[in-house]
Amino acid sequence: MASSVESEFRGARRRLIETLQDKGIKDLAILRAIDIVPRHLFVPPTVRHRAYEDSALPIGSGQTISQPFVHARAIEQLALTGQERVLEIGTGSAYQTALLAQLAAQVFSVERFAALLDRARLVLVEAQVRNVSLSLGDGTLGWREYAPYDAMIVSAGAPHVPPALESQLAEGGRLLIPLGDRDEQMLTLITRRGESFERRDIVPVRFVPLVGAGGWPS
Ligand code: SAH
Repeated sequence: MASSVESEFRGARRRLIETLQDKGIKDLAILRAIDIVPRHLFVPPTVRHRAYEDSALPIGSGQTISQPFVHARAIEQLALTGQERVLEIGTGSAYQTALLAQLAAQVFSVERFAALLDRARLVLVEAQVRNVSLSLGDGTLGWREYAPYDAMIVSAGAPHVPPALESQLAEGGRLLIPLGDRDEQMLTLITRRGESFERRDIVPVRFVPLVGAGGWPS
């Protein structure tokens, strides 16, 4: 039985990849990562049948897993080569964490909800993802111990760039963060050039709020 369920999911995953290609995702490494990572393991059982739709889904604690297209578009901007140390803020379901783990050398991910992080830890083992370190806490402070990072990706919407994140970004490093108000943001790519930070608008997005010392008050 299990194998027919698996092959059904594999078929659905293939169709999702075609959908993403139709929507303009060209990066083969990212499409391959989406083909490898079993998204159905990362969503709650109640919405598992929808795991390969190109849509955001609830994951508990009032949070959501983003639409696969948004993950793909965002990760594309980081231009990962496989050598990078990546910091992710907002582990959530850990699906994006698992995608990043396929595309970079080491992923460090911070989540503020213990319930989500505990679940993330289990699912990453189940999906046999090993190059990820997880931390419970306020990601707006970054993760100083392993800085600097070649790339950072913030999965929640912020009113401004948390200063700790800029300071932990490597020279030439890229930081992707949704900036705006609580409801709507502009996904923004920030590149470090010495002590200055270049900014580029990517696409309007709607993320849950980034709550913490360098984000929104809870
Ligand atoms: N990439 C995740 C997105 C989850 S939603 C996924 O696709 O599943 C955003 C996540 O950011 C939530 O889990 C939320 O709890 C977390 N978050 C919000 N503010 C945070 C902060 N200051 N530090 C760490 N995590 C935070």
